[in-house]
This record gives sequence, structure tokens and C-alpha cells, in this order.
Amino acid sequence: MALDPKASEMLSKGWYGERLSPSDCEYLLTFGDHSSEANLAASLANRLLHKACTETGQICAEIETATGPCPGNCSFCEYAEGTSSAMFREIDDSELARICEGLGGFSDVRSIRLTSCGYVDIDTVCRQVGIARDHAKKGTRIYVNTGDLGSDECRMLRDAGAYGAYHAPRIREGRDTEIALDTRLSTISNLRSAGLQVITGVEPIGPEHENGEIVETFFSTLDMKCSKCEVTAREPVPGTELNKYGKLKPSRLTQIRSVLTLASSWYVPPVRTACPGTYVSGSNIVTVKVEKGNYPKQIEAARRKLFNSGYDHLLKIDDSTVELNLMYLKQTGSV
Ligand code: SF4
Repeated sequence: MALDPKASEMLSKGWYGERLSPSDCEYLLTFGDHSSEANLAASLANRLLHKACTETGQICAEIETATGPCPGNCSFCEYAEGTSSAMFREIDDSELARICEGLGGFSDVRSIRLTSCGYVDIDTVCRQVGIARDHAKKGTRIYVNTGDLGSDECRMLRDAGAYGAYHAPRIREGRDTEIALDTRLSTISNLRSAGLQVITGVEPIGPEHENGEIVETFFSTLDMKCSKCEVTAREPVPGTELNKYGKLKPSRLTQIRSVLTLASSWYVPPVRTACPGTYVSGSNIVTVKVEKGNYPKQIEAARRKLFNSGYDHLLKIDDSTVELNLMYLKQTGSV
């Protein structure tokens, strides 16, 4: 079947680095996730990604430093006060130090993300950033994922040694969460003003979300000078209000990511980094949740995942690259 001419024109604009409007994106998302239009979007976005990262992958280790119950009470979160029966848990400083030290063994875990529930106080987060900075291999980029922050708090994070932060307005912010959209966006501005790199996101996408809501969330941060945007699906959590909607199909997630990748192909992030990939994060960056006992295995699996996805180099902490071949996998105990 012939491609829809209007969709074909839009996809070609995205491929050549021209801007797509929100209504262009919405239009492209009206096609089925297995349609010819969706397949072409996925193929073009994938080619852009591989070109932009020069076939080089990177690994980020995420460490949960504090978990619920959280008064943020988001309707999708396993740590929401109204859902979780979990007790508050904060990682020991010594455990955090040991994990950060252990991750540096082959200098190929380029960033560490410290994730905490929305209520954790800034002094705790800064102390943990300091531990990560002091114990991770020198040059490892330390990111945080916290609740909303004022400008003073963002400066404290920077002074403690943070390189950046993950912060995203959630889809239906203020409706499925108890936080106002403006508060999320102000935090992004505060982080940027403090000189921190911001990875933003479009999340947590569920099957019930309309194209317009997804696109609007993406465009709400596109002029905020973020360095990356992660587009992720919601994990259904039993006991949460949104569990009833289930999970987005992987093919639909690919379609959404692809359209947004093409829509932002013109975008130049504020800081040039080695082998960055596209603004919308793709398969070139593997983020793995690590814990005390499992982190060597998780990092080995991340190397294999990048290898299996066809990346032939791995970006190291010092911006050099190493060939990601069978020999490297053996050397690092990954096979
Ligand atoms: S603020 Fe974060 S940790 Fe707290 S309920 Fe919402 S998503 Fe969960």
C-alpha cells in the first residue's frame, strides 16, 4: 500500500533536520503502530540515532537511594503513600560508596543516577552526591532524580558534585499526580540556571493517553535547553489507580519515540558531548538499576545488550571509546 503523502512529507522533513510541529506529530501518531508510516518513522529515527552516536553505546547505572512511602501519591507509583506497604528505606552511606567504587572497574559506566523519592531532603541528597563523587571513578557523571527543587537547592547539588539531573513533567501532571505542571517546569529551569545538565522525559506513557497529551508533554520542555529526553512507558503496578489500563505495547512505544526523535532532529543540546546520539534517547544508552549484590551482573548484561543491538564501540568515562567486541566482553567477564 502506498504511503500517505502527507505523512511521507513530514517524515522526510524530520529526516532532513527540519522542525515538525505538534500537529505534525499528532498526525503521524494517528497511524497504526504496524503501519507502513510507523515502520518508516522507526527506520528513519533508528538511522538518525546510529549516525549521531557513531555506533557507540554508553552505560548509566541507576541507584535507588531512598524509597517510599511517598506523600507525592502519584497514581502510577509503587512508592505512593496510598499504595505502598513498603517501609521507608534509605541506602547506607557505606553501601553507596562500595557500589560506586565497584562500578568504576572498567571505566565504562559513564554516569551514575541517584534516584530518591520526592520527599527526601536536599541535605541527604547532597551528602549522597558527595559520596558518589568521592567513590566513583574520577570523571563519572553524577546525576540525581529527586523531587522538585528551588534555585538554592539546585546550586547546593551542583556544589556537592552533581553533573546533572533527570526531571520530567509527567503526562497529566496535576491530575494523575498531586504536583502542578509549573512546579515541575520551574525545577527544570532552576537546574539549568545552576549549570546542571538536565535529562527530561515523556513519561509514564500508558495505553489510555491521547496523542495530543503525549505530544504536548514533549513540547513543554523542548525549549528548555535540556540535554536529553527519555520517552518511557508506565510499568503497571498492582494496587495503583492506573494499573487497570495495563501497559503500552512496545511497538507503540517505538512509534512514539521515533516520531519524537524525528520531530527534534534539528535540536542542538546546550553542551556538546562525545557520541551523543539523538536528543530523544534510544537504544545507544542502557540504563540499569543496580543494587549491592547484583551490580557486576547488571553491568555485564548492559554490555551484552549494547553488543547484541549492534553497537561496536563503548564510550568510556574519559570520552575515549573501546571496541565492543567478543574479546572485550570476555575481558570484562560479560560472556
Ligand atoms: S513523587 Fe515520585 S516517588 Fe513520590 S509518588 Fe510521585 S512518582 Fe512516586
